[in-house]
Amino acid sequence: MYTTIEKVYHDKVNHGRPLRYDLHMHSSVSDGILEPAALVERVAEAGIDVMALTDHDTTDGVKAAARAGFARGVRVIAGAEISVSWQGGLLHILALGVDLRDPTLQQGLALLRERREERAVAMGERLAASGIEGCLDGARGYAGGSSIGRSHFAADLVARGFAKDRAAAFRKFLRPGKPGYVSCQWASLESAVAWIKGAGGRAVIAHPARYRLTATKMGRLCEEFKSLGGDGIEVVSGTHTPHDNAMAAGMAQRFELLASQGSDFHDPAQTWLGFGSLPALPENLTPVWHDWGHCAETREYRVGRTG
Ligand code: AMP
Ligand code: MN
Ligand code: MN
Ligand code: MN
Repeated sequence: MYTTIEKVYHDKVNHGRPLRYDLHMHSSVSDGILEPAALVERVAEAGIDVMALTDHDTTDGVKAAARAGFARGVRVIAGAEISVSWQGGLLHILALGVDLRDPTLQQGLALLRERREERAVAMGERLAASGIEGCLDGARGYAGGSSIGRSHFAADLVARGFAKDRAAAFRKFLRPGKPGYVSCQWASLESAVAWIKGAGGRAVIAHPARYRLTATKMGRLCEEFKSLGGDGIEVVSGTHTPHDNAMAAGMAQRFELLASQGSDFHDPAQTWLGFGSLPALPENLTPVWHDWGHCAETREYRVGRTG
């Protein structure tokens, strides 16, 4: 069953086939390679109907993506991937369908970007102390004034021959315990969920299998997330194995979380699954978009009109 607007899209854009969703991807506004408009172009070519732009700790690319989406018939959901510190580790919480103008959300994201900036300076100093000079300037060049992160340092380390590829740069320099690693206090889980819900969005645990939690701890995370008002979990991720997807599906069912799916696309050269090649969500789960027909559309127009 479709709401009116969903039905219009269904008939007009899709000629009767079900909509295809990819609700996790990055542009050059964070650590993706493609500018928002170029990203939307690839999404359209891959036959995706509804995408969420989920840059790290920023929604700054959403308006440009939404404009490109209007031109290409791709519905763009306003999103972000929020960095969270939880029980001594790092989590990523996706914000989907948020009102970009919400001041509390924007203040929260701005604070995280300040932390990123401070961390980048400290990373540059640590790398310099271990004999690698100039990394901060290099990373800033790759970040281009946007949400600076470890991927930008990785790009610089690879370009200057300190690592053979980005994975090696992370392994040798950027992981906990390595010379370029600096820990950071991100948002609390409670704040991240509150910002997202306050901005009218859905909060979703990104790529749950990537945190390497025990089954017990994963259960605790889902329970706490649910009790804070969290909505969903990424069941199908381009960075998951089929086994990981099955684990996440089990969590969705057990904790009555909505199910999401996304490629986590950053770069056409990445090794994980790209747009349009994700497996389908298990049929027993409720998709995070199940009631989006109207609400997502409203946000899309808001984005378009204020741009
Ligand atoms: P940050 O949020 O700045 O700490 O950086 C995290 C980002 O680094 C992730 O979103 C990935 O895009 C990237 N990343 C993390 N681990 C790796 C890895 N082993 N190889 C390549 N990219 C990675
Ligand atoms: Mn990333
Ligand atoms: Mn992530
Ligand atoms: Mn991501």
